[in-house]
Amino acid sequence: MSEKIFLCSICNINSGTCLEDCKFCSQSVRYKADIERFQHKEIKLIQEEAINARDNGALGFCLVTADKGLNEKTLEFVCNVAKAVQEVAPELRLIACNGTATLKQLLTLKEAGIKAYNHNLETSESFYKEICTTHPWSERYETCQNVNEAGMVLITGGIFGLGETQEDRLSMLKSLASLNPTSVPINFYHHNEALSLAPNPLKVDEALNLIKLTREMIPDAERIMVAGGRELMFGERQNEIFNYGANSIVIGNYLTTSGRAMNKDLDMLQSLGLEVAKKVN
Ligand code: SF4
Repeated sequence: MSEKIFLCSICNINSGTCLEDCKFCSQSVRYKADIERFQHKEIKLIQEEAINARDNGALGFCLVTADKGLNEKTLEFVCNVAKAVQEVAPELRLIACNGTATLKQLLTLKEAGIKAYNHNLETSESFYKEICTTHPWSERYETCQNVNEAGMVLITGGIFGLGETQEDRLSMLKSLASLNPTSVPINFYHHNEALSLAPNPLKVDEALNLIKLTREMIPDAERIMVAGGRELMFGERQNEIFNYGANSIVIGNYLTTSGRAMNKDLDMLQSLGLEVAKKVN
């Protein structure tokens, strides 16, 4: 595990257009959440976001689309975006997060310069049926297997605070470990009033211990990343996440919610004496 902190920035290159029914997701068109929705973000805007992320210390730049999975059109768009970002910020490690993907689609992304693919298992196989009825958990697992087969860096994690039991959490972490991911993004459910799920019931100490549990159960992962929900879940105690095994964070905004200003995170790391990773293996 790296002692340096890996910073990642996410970019919603398509937003709020998904037809699936994941109960935690405001990007589903079904729940009519009050979020920005668009098919394709302008390439120039994506390039600007990439430059800004790089200038604020991000190493990873993740291109996220809101759909169940890749189709021909989305694949082409993501590849075009990947090429455009490499023109202006070749130092960034490009990550794609575009849902279900076949081996062939992943190889096309790889060819376009995408190094890593993020697809989360979200929760345990048995609890997944409670939060999504439009596609099975097994498809998520298979996509992660495809990522490994494609020889790309696998990033897979999940989300806590959906109403799952501790048994579900352990089951998800075991499944994640079986995929041998390089990075494990841990999200904490950020409630939106348009969604039918109850607000996240986790207390800060419980959430910190879940980071520790993730670290313990997936010891070979290079990075445990605290991703969505950090500010809301930990508030003033965000700096403690690094004592519990986190060595990566998302900086800047999330997909549909605002993060805090990037310089605040950089100040936090500096005050903790933590170094920002400048290169990735
Ligand atoms: S498939 Fe992805 S984008 Fe679509 S509703 Fe589920 S989590 Fe959201």
